[in-house]
Formats: sequence, C-alpha cells, structure tokens
Amino acid sequence: MPDRHSRRRDALRQTVATDGCGAILVSTVVNVGYLTGFSGDSTALIVMADRDLAVSDFRYAEQLQNECPDVPTHIRPVNQKLWAAVADAVGKLGIGNLAFEANGMFVSDHDTMRAALPGVATRGVIGRVEALRAIKDEEEIATIRRAILAAERAFAMFRAGLRLDESEIDAADGMEHYLRRCGSSAAAFEPIVAAGPGSALPHARPAAAGRIGDSDFLLVDWGAIVEGYRSDLTRMLVTAKVGTEFARVYRAVLAAQERAIATIRPGARASEVDAVARAAIDEAGFGGLFGHGLGHGIGLAIHESPWLRPDSDDVLRPGMVLTVEPGIYRTGWGGIRIEDDVLVTPDGAEILTSVPKAIETLSPY
Ligand code: ZN
Ligand code: ZN
Repeated sequence: MPDRHSRRRDALRQTVATDGCGAILVSTVVNVGYLTGFSGDSTALIVMADRDLAVSDFRYAEQLQNECPDVPTHIRPVNQKLWAAVADAVGKLGIGNLAFEANGMFVSDHDTMRAALPGVATRGVIGRVEALRAIKDEEEIATIRRAILAAERAFAMFRAGLRLDESEIDAADGMEHYLRRCGSSAAAFEPIVAAGPGSALPHARPAAAGRIGDSDFLLVDWGAIVEGYRSDLTRMLVTAKVGTEFARVYRAVLAAQERAIATIRPGARASEVDAVARAAIDEAGFGGLFGHGLGHGIGLAIHESPWLRPDSDDVLRPGMVLTVEPGIYRTGWGGIRIEDDVLVTPDGAEILTSVPKAIETLSPY
C-alpha cells in the first residue's frame, strides 16, 4: 500500500504528462514537504514519469533518509549551489523537457539553471501541486480539526485573561502564548488584535501604545498550527456597552457570512459564493466597504487554493477547507470581520469552527 506522499507524487505525475513535459521540478518548500514528508528546506524535488529525485545538501542527508526513505536523494557537494546541482541532475537524468514552478524560484536562480541547461526546454507552470493540496484527505481534515480545537481553546483563555488596561500588542503576545499552551507549535500567523478605529485596517499591526479599554470593541484574528496544518478565525469582542451602530454593522457582516456559507457545496463557483456575501453587504447599505476577497483555503499554508474572490476560477470540491470572512471597514470608526473555517462535504458544507457569534456572547469573561 503506497503511503500518502507517494500517492501525491503519483497524482503529480499525471499533470507532468498533461503538460507534455518529461519531469516537473518542485522547489516551493511547502510543496516539497507535501509530496515527500520532508520537513527541511533548501531542497528541490524532480518528479519524472517513473521516478523521483530530491536534490539537497549535507545538512539534510540524514533527515531525508529518516523522513522520506523511499525518495532517492542527490546530495550536492559543498562548493556547488542548489540550482547548479539541479541542472546537473536534470542533465544526467536525460530530461529534455522540464516543467518548473514559475512561482517557486527567484529569477536569478532560474537564469543560473537555464544557463547550465542549454539543450533542455523548460516551461514555467503554476498551481500544479497547489491544486492537489486544495483537496484534503481524511487525515488532513482530522489534523485541521485539531488545529481549530487548539485555536478555540486558546481563544477561551484569551477572553478569560483579557485586561482592558493592556495594549493591543500585550494582548497579541498573550494569544501567542495561549496558542502554544493549547498544543499549537506556533501561531499560524502574527495574531491581529485591533481595537476600535485600528480594526478598520484588515491586516492591522497590534499597537504598543493605548489601552484596549479605550475603544468599545476589539477585532481578534488568530490561528494555530498542528502538525503543519493551520486554522484561521476572526471574532469581535465588545469591551463596553454595544452601540446601535456596532450592532447594525455586525448583523450585516454575520448575515453576509451565513448566506455565503449556505451556498457552499460541491460544484459551486468560488466567485459566486463571494458574490452572495458581497450582495448581502450591499443590500444592508454598506456597499464598497468590503474591499477584500471572501475567503481562502487553509492547510499547510495559511492562504492557499481555493480562493473565494470575485476574479476566482475555482470550483468547490469535496475535501476543500476554506475560510469565510466577510468584513465591513469604515475609516475612523473601525472594522468588523467574522471568520470561520468550512469543509466542503459531498453534499454541502460543514462549519468546523464553533466559537459563538451571537452578539450577546461577545464580551470578555
Ligand atoms: Zn484570519
Ligand atoms: Zn483568513
């Protein structure tokens, strides 16, 4: 029974044939890890019709042997750079037509490799491994569920420990600590803790000055990592009495999110799911204030295929796990975003996250 990594390499082999190439060179760190189980970096993987080769260096020789013993390796000499070694290997393997990840190397590295392969045709391709990564197997879904559980436990501690006299950056530090305490290897990204007007910046940096309690509400965007897989959530917390304007905007965002999630099912177009949320926000009178895509896939990367955006060509398939995160942002007042993680099931969708969203539940403990 081939293991999950060799099954993934076999799936990639199909695309090599479709691209009309003799091999594909995979150089994106997360893609090499996905295809082999290798957890290091500085390593390129060549996938051919009938075999694979990992090109690496002395630092990783033993680790490659331990983590992916079924992948043959070529350890480059200390005086040879990775891309020269890759070119050497491509030449020795007799590959005449090589696909490479156009988003997986610097232009300067590409030039080095090209110069060393005068007789080889090369072709940049995009999204081959990412398309495989977009569909999660049972084991991956179970791991993402654990990353969500770790994030949700951390949020409960965050809520319980929040002090209104602390700064955004102190609160964000607290969240990173709680995430690790709850089984996350690190924060999936730098947590966003943004109070009042600061939350109008969708990717706000926590501020060192000011007290959280000086604003009426707080946006918290955080996630955990378990065995490399990530979760991603956003919740609002209300630190004073809820104003009518907050309630009006919050309900519009929540309604947009619920309507969009209700349309998620296999075969749905990602752009149409985005459009449902956008129309709901327009109808509520906040047109033009939701200036980013509705969501993104999560997995080994925090942002990956599929993309819920107006310009997306993605079609939803069972096994995809994606965020749904509409927001309304008003300069000088603040932003409200609600983000949950959703699994596309064979007949619809399952919301994997469970932190309450009713307005009565938004105060710190
Ligand atoms: Zn997020
Ligand atoms: Zn997100």
